[in-house]
Amino acid sequence: MKRTDIVVIGGGAAGMMAAIRALREGCDVTLLEKNPFCGKKINITGKGRCNITNSRPWQEFATHIHPNSQFLRSAFYDFSNRDVEELFNSIGVPTVETQGQRIYPESMRAQDVSQGLQDYLEELGAELICGADVVGVRRDGELLVTSFCAAGGGAPEAICSEAVIVATGGLSYPTTGSTGFGYEIARSFGHTVTECFPSLTALKPRRYDPDLSGIDLENVGLNLFVDGSPVQSEEGDLSFTDNGIEGALGFRVSRKAVRALNHGQKVELELDLKPSLNLAKLEARITREITAIGSSRATISDTKLRGILRTLLPQKLVKPFLDAHPGLNADNLAASLKGWFFKIESYTGYERCVVTAGGVSLKEVVAKSMRSRLDDGLYFAGEVLDLDGDTGGYNLQIAFSTGALAGRSAAQRILNSREGEGA
Ligand SMILES: Cc1cc2nc3c(=O)[nH]c(=O)nc-3n(C[C@H](O)[C@H](O)[C@H](O)COP(=O)(O)OP(=O)(O)OC[C@H]3O[C@@H](n4cnc5c(N)ncnc54)[C@H](O)[C@@H]3O)c2cc1C
Repeated sequence: MKRTDIVVIGGGAAGMMAAIRALREGCDVTLLEKNPFCGKKINITGKGRCNITNSRPWQEFATHIHPNSQFLRSAFYDFSNRDVEELFNSIGVPTVETQGQRIYPESMRAQDVSQGLQDYLEELGAELICGADVVGVRRDGELLVTSFCAAGGGAPEAICSEAVIVATGGLSYPTTGSTGFGYEIARSFGHTVTECFPSLTALKPRRYDPDLSGIDLENVGLNLFVDGSPVQSEEGDLSFTDNGIEGALGFRVSRKAVRALNHGQKVELELDLKPSLNLAKLEARITREITAIGSSRATISDTKLRGILRTLLPQKLVKPFLDAHPGLNADNLAASLKGWFFKIESYTGYERCVVTAGGVSLKEVVAKSMRSRLDDGLYFAGEVLDLDGDTGGYNLQIAFSTGALAGRSAAQRILNSREGEGA
């Protein structure tokens, strides 16, 4: 049977970074990727531009990581957002910082990121086997045996190694290759996989008005209510699409909203179209506008009230707003603008969500090395773990940091044990 030091399963952001770090430490690495090429998901990130990471310092960065940011701390400090930038700059993929401290490749081409990593892996001497669908991993004495079906069919092949790094991703966008097989590997070694659900995904309101689709709103507020209680409050930009409420704000509340829906809880979103004005100030502004056209709250006609509404809202939003508020009058206008309620009934599933929440339980993985607590040779990295981030480059940084730490730890462990044997 063929033998190598480390097998990496999955050629995404985490797997490629794990292989790079292990090779740089001096180990032989075989990377098995079931697609015909590595980085298929990277190519669709950031709308094809790839938001590689976010330059915020750890204290701020950590607030965007769920469910346990402390687990990521060691990995982040071992291979930080600055290290990620430095690496890309050193391999000929210069980076640039944009709004919200988001880091992108200067070319704004995600493909340059995936190709840059793959070229560097080849330069370091990695054995890349693409088209290799891993079907199982088992322990055989001192070694781990990874079985896979090669492209073109034939009998399954096997490769044995001292360490295996599972970097198979989660369940989101399965067309990119992430179909949850890493969870099967984890379970076969006795690992717990926590409840998985789509995150950073569109939330669909009941009786969703198709006229809303295509409207983008800037600087609005969004409050999430679960079973009538407020649980999250955010401000920023929101988009209505064919799938429902999304954009940065919609995505931010989707993690808690999806989980609540899956648990049969009542989920509502309250859209605040004027977050910079409190209710009293908005009431005063509406009164001023009514007075300016020579009318009063008691006598203003529906037509004139609509005219005022047009000065307060983007034009495309006026009709759906009026349709959603049939009893609108001068006295309830301000409250309606600050509290437009949407009952959420469903969400976009794994087929189009950005990230999977849940995964291999962090309790059974050592945060300082990414090594399994249940098998010394097994490591996990990337989205397969129960670790996810907000939009803004946080998820790729999770993949890069955990991948790099897994690669370095696995390599150092192997090299140290060899040194020990030689002594
Ligand atoms: C549309 C979209 C846009 C996104 N944009 C951003 C962004 O701009 N910034 C950001 O930070 N994050 C973004 N993300 C999230 C980010 O892309 C992921 O969290 C990250 O790529 C996860 O990396 P990974 O290596 O853990 O998993 P993946 O990238 O999913 O890689 C896993 C790899 O393992 C392979 N594999 C799986 N099973 C097997 C098997 N049995 N045998 C062999 N190989 C296998 C898969 O083919 C795949 O290539 C986006 C996600 C999506 C879907």
